[in-house]
Amino acid sequence: MQVAFVDLNRQYQSIQSEIKEAMNQVFESSTFILGKPVEDFEKSFAEFCEASYACGVANGTDAIHLLLKAYGISNNDEVIIPAHTFIATALGVAYSGAKPVLVDVDARSFLIDADKIEAAITKNTRAIIGVHLYGQTCDMNKLREIADRHKLLLFEDAAQAHGAYYQNKKAGSLADGATFSFYPGKNLGAYGDGGAIVTSNKDIYDKIKALRNYGSPIKYEHRILGYNSRLDTLQAAFLSVKLRHLDKFTLRRQQVAQTYLERLKELKSIQLPGIREIKDHVFHLFVVQLENRDRLQKFLAENDIETAIHYPKPIHQHEAFKYYDFFKESFPIAENICKRILSLPLFPEITEDEIDYICSKLIEFDHH
Ligand SMILES: *Cc1c(COP(=O)(O)O)cnc(C)c1O
Repeated sequence: MQVAFVDLNRQYQSIQSEIKEAMNQVFESSTFILGKPVEDFEKSFAEFCEASYACGVANGTDAIHLLLKAYGISNNDEVIIPAHTFIATALGVAYSGAKPVLVDVDARSFLIDADKIEAAITKNTRAIIGVHLYGQTCDMNKLREIADRHKLLLFEDAAQAHGAYYQNKKAGSLADGATFSFYPGKNLGAYGDGGAIVTSNKDIYDKIKALRNYGSPIKYEHRILGYNSRLDTLQAAFLSVKLRHLDKFTLRRQQVAQTYLERLKELKSIQLPGIREIKDHVFHLFVVQLENRDRLQKFLAENDIETAIHYPKPIHQHEAFKYYDFFKESFPIAENICKRILSLPLFPEITEDEIDYICSKLIEFDHH
């Protein structure tokens, strides 16, 4: 048996007729930039997130950049992010002109360690970005308390957490603004790049709408230096189709995770992820930890099971950020988990036989 880390074709096959219909409609109307498909998707995505507004943008990295920009964050400002996240969180901050300031993460949940945030706050700090990594929301009550105490803005990087919950509230509705990515492999993925900013602040929403469209609230009127960063119309049409199926896909992800958790709980060499509540987690990734990570990855590859590492290097060790002097800093937990983590295959269309095969190979590895 061969198991892919993720097989996007299976999902496409299951919704192919709806996707083709949506594509036809866009071609028939021949509106390819903004227009009704983008507006319709934005409306349903805002509703899905239980927030007032969603603004489609070109990708999740731009979403972070434009959200910070709309709140006036720029040069000499600092924005707190976790040391363990996808590079784009830091890039979005850097594009705004602000400096990303890193905070170590929790070794079990992989999420920003709220107890370490206050030590990183300076007179230049303007915001905290909580990253709902792997599909699990951060401890937003704690983050809100710290943000309020220091008069900081609070944002969510929800690129991996479409539909996740925190205490009965949806990701996207938990802060002053949230950013999403619709990169094909994300829980809600387009057939190309896409992203969105979700907020209930009308003023910020209006600013972002202008920022994404050459800084132009009215055609040929430019009051600010804007960008060309719109959500593509075809992608918006596809996303509306996929959003209708998302709850079902999420439920299946949770079932798969539940099976992994049950079948692997006795393993001695493999540590399972720290999960607050399965029903709140959307399992973008299922990440285990172990001492002999590379050996396990090789063993699984020899058995035709594809795995991945999210991510092999913490933010501060990337060459791209050397001008921040990050190399001198140390985030021991982030550094350590990078060497220990392994992401197992988990996608809505994975079969019971495939999960069974993966679990049996993990058990075999553990017994050696
Ligand atoms: C994917 C991702 C992004 C960036 O999204 P793109 O659409 O690829 O630009 C940002 N943050 C996190 C945590 C991500 O996983």
